[in-house]
Amino acid sequence: MTVAQAAGKSGALEKYEAVIGIEIHCQLKTVSKMFCGCSTDIDGAAPNSHCCPVCLGLPGVLPTINKAAVEFVIATGFAIEATVASTTRWDRKNYFYPDLPKGYQISQYQLPLAANGRLTFDTSDGPFTVRVNRAHLEEDTGRLIHQDLDGRRVSLIDFNRSGMPLMEIVTEPNIRTAEQARRYAEELRLLMRTIGASDAEMENGQMRVEANVSIRPIGREAFGTRVEVKNMNSMRAVERAIAFEIERQAVAIDAGESIHMETRGWDEGSQSTYHMRPKEEENDYRYFPEPDLPPLLTTPEWLAEIKARLPELPATRRTRYREAYGLSAYDAGVLVNDAAATALFEGALAAGAGVPAKLLANWVTGEYMRLAKGEGSGGSTDPAELAALVKLVAAGAISGTNAKEIFAEHFASGAKVAAIVESRGFRQISDAGALGAAIDTVLAANPAAVADYRAGTLAAIGFLVGQVMKATRGQANAAMVQTALRERLDKV
Ligand SMILES: [Zn+2]
Repeated sequence: MTVAQAAGKSGALEKYEAVIGIEIHCQLKTVSKMFCGCSTDIDGAAPNSHCCPVCLGLPGVLPTINKAAVEFVIATGFAIEATVASTTRWDRKNYFYPDLPKGYQISQYQLPLAANGRLTFDTSDGPFTVRVNRAHLEEDTGRLIHQDLDGRRVSLIDFNRSGMPLMEIVTEPNIRTAEQARRYAEELRLLMRTIGASDAEMENGQMRVEANVSIRPIGREAFGTRVEVKNMNSMRAVERAIAFEIERQAVAIDAGESIHMETRGWDEGSQSTYHMRPKEEENDYRYFPEPDLPPLLTTPEWLAEIKARLPELPATRRTRYREAYGLSAYDAGVLVNDAAATALFEGALAAGAGVPAKLLANWVTGEYMRLAKGEGSGGSTDPAELAALVKLVAAGAISGTNAKEIFAEHFASGAKVAAIVESRGFRQISDAGALGAAIDTVLAANPAAVADYRAGTLAAIGFLVGQVMKATRGQANAAMVQTALRERLDKV
């Protein structure tokens, strides 16, 4: 029996409430590292090629603060409605590990740059707000690689990542479901990308999500024993790992077992969490103020400047799309979630005066996103051409089916919409005279369908519409054909 089956059978989940807090580390999109001038462009670089005495932790060197990294955290603070500190400080977080040459990380402990924020987003149960405890700056560690070399098991170390700027964002434990946790991480990822603070790709470690999960009987205030869950490499994994952990704890408690403080990893293969290491007590990092760096003061002018630079945030944009263009909450969400789709939508609105926004949004979230996500799609869309196409559809000048073909061709080849319409003869026949002749031919050729319709089988009209469309190679205005057919058939 799986954990999920056991939980379902015992009804364990109905008795307990989950208490979840999330810690996210985001690698900030700066040009240089946190406290030295080394480049952050380490993707595919040879091991230990992006290091200097500062990020190697050699004695006798001094760190310098990366201003851009500080500004990204302040911008994040404003974006999550947090309090941004006027004075902040750097602290040493001491621990020993081979990937940490200094024996400490420079971090922020007592005075984080941003505190007491919140982030609101939609879930399947409606809007939910996660309270954010803090957002602070720190530096990354190096990376250990364990492998076999010349028949020996060795541990190699690459310091390219050492000193990369990281923002740590910690929530209050007010998350209650695995879905809320996933949605929070997704919304934060969107926010990071929108303000340009981080690319936040989970697959390559630019965004690392850890969850603290405990459960308690519904109605009880005191927290249960919490378990830390790591190694979740996708949003799907975040939701599944937390859901698994909630069920595992419920089943264990119901079976009279106790929950141990531990760190567990998510295993994608078995879709379950596994024990990594015990966590007997909170680590004692012996924090103390970093003596090599002065406290950091943020002037009101500087803060105002950073705030003024913030782009339109996802939540504001979703609301605007709903209110100004009548999009559904779902459509606005899909659109705003995808930066390329948002840019296309905004670009087409700007390029095509009078283009119907709601129809345009349907095209972007429908055909465009389908093609853009397609296998090996190398295509692109010119916003002005999409606007032109949507205007033709809205005016009834081309049929919906043909419009999709035109769009696919434009996407693949970049050809202009007007040129495709001309070359393929897609201009819709909306001329009553031309349509009338085609309709008369079809009626004369299909007496059985005509008789069926008049005998009360109204569905027969669908067949006749199809025949007219076929006769006109799909160029007839289907709505006009339907109306004209009815007029003729109902006459006698
Ligand atoms: Zn360096």
